[in-house]
Amino acid sequence: MTESPTILSDPAALREAIGQMRGRGQKIGLVPTMGALHEGHLSLVDHLAPMVDAVVCSIFVNPKQFGANEDLDSYPRQMEDDVALLSDKKVQLVFAPRVEDMYPDDFQTTVSVGAVSTGLCGGSRPGHFDGVATVVAKLLLLVLPDVAVFGEKDYQQLLVIRQMVRDLAIPVQIEGAPIIRADDGLALSSRNAYLTSGERAAAPLLQQTLVNSAGRLKRGDDSAVVVRDAIAALSAGGFDVDYFEVRDAGTLAPLSGPVPPGTARLLAAARLGSTRLIDNVAV
Ligand code: AMP
Repeated sequence: MTESPTILSDPAALREAIGQMRGRGQKIGLVPTMGALHEGHLSLVDHLAPMVDAVVCSIFVNPKQFGANEDLDSYPRQMEDDVALLSDKKVQLVFAPRVEDMYPDDFQTTVSVGAVSTGLCGGSRPGHFDGVATVVAKLLLLVLPDVAVFGEKDYQQLLVIRQMVRDLAIPVQIEGAPIIRADDGLALSSRNAYLTSGERAAAPLLQQTLVNSAGRLKRGDDSAVVVRDAIAALSAGGFDVDYFEVRDAGTLAPLSGPVPPGTARLLAAARLGSTRLIDNVAV
């Protein structure tokens, strides 16, 4: 399909367009993004397209999920390229609100999810998941999709959204989609554009270390030893490790000792220079 999607920034216009889709009996899917789209984002569209009649993709660099010293201002914005990429996909509508459309001056509400958003990225980025939950709740309420899809690349985010949707009884099915990687294993990310060529060459070590560590855990090695070795390997490879942890795959509760196969997730965040990379693998 090569028809250009309709681009809307006004929430009222979005509601109207969604109302028309619903009036036609269409099942609607939502792909929330911050833009600077790559094959990872496009895979979410492909994942959703067979499940629905119409795909809505939101593009919004959400200031509430960036900390004071983070990369909000430098985060890549490339609306025209993004729309061109989505035009090759089955996307009917792009919702690209301005900050003031989503957060007018008198905006006062924060959605804050509990235990699952603490630790990991919630630990190293205080307030991040409040910002994520707040914007995703608002996007879900604006679009009222039947299905919304999130990448396992942001595994904790996926579980935070699932928890929020359960707790608030938001009537939407949440789909998780697998991580899309470059040929050398690096998980695709809009932030990979920040890497220098030297850092880009070093970056695949993050996934390699996760995979090696998952292999050791599957063979019954002790979690603490595996994590210690992984942090040492990443540090030797030039990474500054934020966290490298073994967690329950369903709840993100911390695990220790040997872990039963099929129940755990290994999650990591580490910096190469000023670029923070995250990745995770199943155990
Ligand atoms: P972002 O634009 O970074 O907020 O990401 C928007 C959505 O795309 C989130 O659900 C991410 O988890 C997902 N995503 C980002 N990178 C990837 C990837 N490499 N593979 C799969 N999903 C991804």
